[in-house]
Amino acid sequence: MTHTFTFLGTGAGCGVPAFFCDCPACEEARANPQAARGDCGAMVSGESRTLIDCPPDLRSYLNREGVREVADVVLTHWHYDHVGGFGELEYMMQLRTKQLIPVHASPYTLASIGREFNYMMYAVEPHEVNPGDSFELDGVRYTALPVTHAPGTYGYLIETPQTRLFYASDTGKLPAETAERIHGVDVLALDATYWKHNGYPESHNSVQECIEQGLALDAKKIYLTHLCMHYAEPITLVELNDYLSQYGGRVQAASDGLSFEI
Ligand SMILES: [Zn+2]
Ligand SMILES: [Zn+2]
Ligand SMILES: [Zn+2]
Repeated sequence: MTHTFTFLGTGAGCGVPAFFCDCPACEEARANPQAARGDCGAMVSGESRTLIDCPPDLRSYLNREGVREVADVVLTHWHYDHVGGFGELEYMMQLRTKQLIPVHASPYTLASIGREFNYMMYAVEPHEVNPGDSFELDGVRYTALPVTHAPGTYGYLIETPQTRLFYASDTGKLPAETAERIHGVDVLALDATYWKHNGYPESHNSVQECIEQGLALDAKKIYLTHLCMHYAEPITLVELNDYLSQYGGRVQAASDGLSFEI
């Protein structure tokens, strides 16, 4: 069976346009919805659907993608831009599936969810995932690999019989063991938060650092995600695409709703 990987959202926290921002990137996104980005999350669809993170815009993402049921949730970490929409799933559980929602995450992330969403933990079936652990959901293998971000944050190596994909929306330079494990992946979806000046090199990449790592890892296709477009120096999508054209299609800015078979 084939599976589909979908970028639900591809922006860094606050999205593009950010409601409080008048920069060229935000004005571009107001004029052209193709340039707009919501907070980061992804989905793997096969027989059932697995969410990777629950960003605040989750409800609109799932409506856009025509999703009626989510079977599993895998969390990278516990920051608001990745779990702010978690509460949406309680309604699905109450009104439709009537089944506990399996949530796979690090012990640190599960503890954080347990505090922030304490009132709905009755609806959750927690699955602790430790660094290096693998588990299978709907015929897809997920392996949690440490990245450089907040405590308990993972990137996930996502494997089907056809495809090896590594998804790490929030990370700085990857730890050596993680880099070794994912060398030569077919698809790399990696943090590219900043344009040029990296304000948090210990927990995020710049576009340039993302591409550098992707090329060093021999990734066949590199998707930039968690793009802020305006934290430091603003860059419009037109300018970014122009810059990426030098890589001849191997490097591409992910976009909300972009999907492909894995
Ligand atoms: Zn802006
Ligand atoms: Zn984060
Ligand atoms: Zn983030």
